[in-house]
Amino acid sequence: MVREISAGGVVVRNKDGVWWMAAIELPGEAPARPDPAKRAVRPKSKVVICLPKGLVDPGEKPLEAALREVREETGITAVPITKLADIKYMYVRTWGDGERVFKIVTFYLVQYESGEIDDISDDMRVEVRRALWVPLEEAPKLLAYKGEKQMARQALAYVTTHADLKPAG
Ligand code: ATP
Repeated sequence: MVREISAGGVVVRNKDGVWWMAAIELPGEAPARPDPAKRAVRPKSKVVICLPKGLVDPGEKPLEAALREVREETGITAVPITKLADIKYMYVRTWGDGERVFKIVTFYLVQYESGEIDDISDDMRVEVRRALWVPLEEAPKLLAYKGEKQMARQALAYVTTHADLKPAG
């Protein structure tokens, strides 16, 4: 089975005592077979909300990859706080030979330092519909995937038990 190693970030920012998290919206897939009875209605593509992440490049450390992906996919420059966990899942490629992929993604809790959310390149806009701040408390229910929901829960637990975290930016 093919393996993929990625890294990503839960980016948090405290504003006026409220913790926010940077999320990305992926361009959703339109339903494959629209209901013919509702032909007049244009099928709405479902928006998928995820955490910024991507493949670890050769020679790159997972934390470096996480910070790079955060910058590229959200426009935010962040600084590390701590490692959260590795999440694992399997998927089947929709291209090539349709191979099964076993994927490991290392997530880090990182804190906002600078930058504007959604300030991303035109190339990145193909993969990311938009980047946005969501309240960290709501992130577990907004995120699409179980493993990422868990990362947001861990991030929330961390910031609520570390009152010493300095509000940056
Ligand atoms: P990367 O962002 O690491 O470069 P990618 O965009 O090529 O990767 P994934 O985001 O891993 O690929 O998505 C590949 C497939 O896995 C998609 O079908 C996606 O819906 C699914 N997927 C993505 N994240 C998760 C997850 N945390 N749990 C389960 N399935 C997921």
